[in-house]
Amino acid sequence: MAKKQFKAESKRLLEMMINSIYSQREVFLRELISNASDAIDKIYYKALTDDTLSFNKDSYYIQVIPDKANRTLTIIDTGIGMTKEELENNLGTIARSGSLAFKNENEAKDGHNIIGQFGVGFYAAFMVADVVTVISKALGSDEAYKWESKGTDGYTIVPNEKQSIGTEIILEIKANTEEENYDQYLEEYQLRQTIKKYSDFIRYPIKMDVTGKRPKKGSETELEDYTEEQVINSMVPIWRKNKTELTPEDYENFYTEKHYGFDKPIKHIHINVDGAVRYNAILYIPEKIPFDYYSKEYEKGVELYSNGVLIMNKCGDLLPDYFSFVKGMVDSEDLSLNISREMLQQDRQLKLIAKNINKKIKSELQSLLKNDREKYDEFYKSFGRQLKYGVYSDFGANKEDLQDLLMFYSSKEKKLVTLDEYVSRMPEDQKYIYYASGESYERIEKLPQTELVSEKGYEILYFTEDIDEFAIKMLMTYKDKEFKSVSSGDLGIEAEENQDNASSDDNENKDLFDYMKNILSGKVEDVRVSKRLRSHPVCLSTDGEVTIEMEKILNTMPDSQNVKAEKVLEINPNHEVFNSLKEAFETDKEKLNLYTNLLYNQALLIEGLPINDPVEFTNDICKIMV
Ligand code: ADP
Ligand code: MG
Repeated sequence: MAKKQFKAESKRLLEMMINSIYSQREVFLRELISNASDAIDKIYYKALTDDTLSFNKDSYYIQVIPDKANRTLTIIDTGIGMTKEELENNLGTIARSGSLAFKNENEAKDGHNIIGQFGVGFYAAFMVADVVTVISKALGSDEAYKWESKGTDGYTIVPNEKQSIGTEIILEIKANTEEENYDQYLEEYQLRQTIKKYSDFIRYPIKMDVTGKRPKKGSETELEDYTEEQVINSMVPIWRKNKTELTPEDYENFYTEKHYGFDKPIKHIHINVDGAVRYNAILYIPEKIPFDYYSKEYEKGVELYSNGVLIMNKCGDLLPDYFSFVKGMVDSEDLSLNISREMLQQDRQLKLIAKNINKKIKSELQSLLKNDREKYDEFYKSFGRQLKYGVYSDFGANKEDLQDLLMFYSSKEKKLVTLDEYVSRMPEDQKYIYYASGESYERIEKLPQTELVSEKGYEILYFTEDIDEFAIKMLMTYKDKEFKSVSSGDLGIEAEENQDNASSDDNENKDLFDYMKNILSGKVEDVRVSKRLRSHPVCLSTDGEVTIEMEKILNTMPDSQNVKAEKVLEINPNHEVFNSLKEAFETDKEKLNLYTNLLYNQALLIEGLPINDPVEFTNDICKIMV
């Protein structure tokens, strides 16, 4: 019988399991029980929707059998089973191992990290066993098969006897080592603890033989040993329980048990509704971004149950895109079991539930923002970008709902602030909500364009994410205040003494500016005296709707139309450089040419824009050095 090889990625995951430095090896049991429960879900669902199958509720169970003498631990389920092909495909290639490709080598070397990110699944068995044997008979098939593996060198599949449909997994538990006591995975007490801890809410009975002592019949004092099969888990699904019965740990365990994530959720939301539509839901706001969250692979959705039976793993229709980070489950008695995906989209009940849930998540986030700012900050670091996308997408249809959840970094507070906080602090003479865009807070801080606004004592919001300006453009106003880029042509700051100066400079030096504009024709729309610069000689501003940041972002898009911002070169009339320009205009046009190009290129550099001809630029600098 030929040995088959594991797929490369699976092999790596397997190696990691075998050499695991993971401290909680006991989770192997949670993984195997969760697979057993999934398999029973599948057959249970089939039986409910297929009249030719009839099952008795008692026929669904999971059984755990420790055998100290033979050092084996067996986990039996009466689930849907696996065909030969399924054994091959599901156990030879672990889907999840594909996720490894996303991780860089360094991280992959540290098994802990991987386990933390993806969960471990079936291969977790190899953390405690030298040999893993899976005997399975699939629903609708006459033959059973045995899959067996000693680890990375491959696996075999052969026909095997098995009467009933379902799966039996036999683990040959490793011998004790100096570091690890493997005996504990054969101890009844330890197994009970582990099942209680991780699998208490599994909806099918997890049975195990339990030994104890009891008074001997007919005797007051004498005790006798007995063994009896007991159901270890409480089986009541957590979502059916009363909130008051549950502890934060219960919710955390459920989150982990269900593989919603491997972080600790920031918040759980437990909803029991008994109204026009009846449903129970447990939803979570995760703390950390799933590794694939901002990729195309990520699929939003919550588990959907119809009266306790899982009908869909990821029901996307229940969550709007801007809350796609929410994890959890919804169970409703009012949903039909036979409902298809297409019908589900039309379902009135489901739409009502989605609407309720959406409202609830929003209000929970609002209360988090109000009552636990630190946690909200943490949440926002992970998912703030998604909320901003929410404001922007669907032509701003949801902007009213989401605007109060937004935060931006403030020049004054040096931390994230809400728009409400910003507006409530605005001095009376301030007309606009000012923002500045750039690569990082540090770079924005140094932008010459911020000088006047800062000098006025106005707060500036720093935009560092590409979505920021687009979201704000969609929002247009917040509490009737318009947003304004510090680089925009008109800052809306009242005329002051130096503005008179500036305009007279403008007229006085019209010829100079016209000349410079000519030199830069095709590159800038205009050359002007700056009203916003204080210590810097030069900067770019923009007229019109498109800012320089937007130009950059739009031009990275695949079908970009080469959108251009209407750039204006602004010169600081109070800077010494200005005198040099005036002088050159009078005496040396070639020099003026050189200076103008230098200043323009400097302005580009400040904006983080590429210089058209870097060689020419450096040559120009050399010219003024010699
Ligand atoms: P996951 O459960 O996330 O899919 P696992 O590694 O835990 O990943 O399991 C891999 C696959 O093997 C499962 O998706 C399932 O198809 C199959 N499988 C594992 N255990 C069982 C079982 N007890 N009964 C039926 N199928 C199983
Ligand atoms: Mg699994």
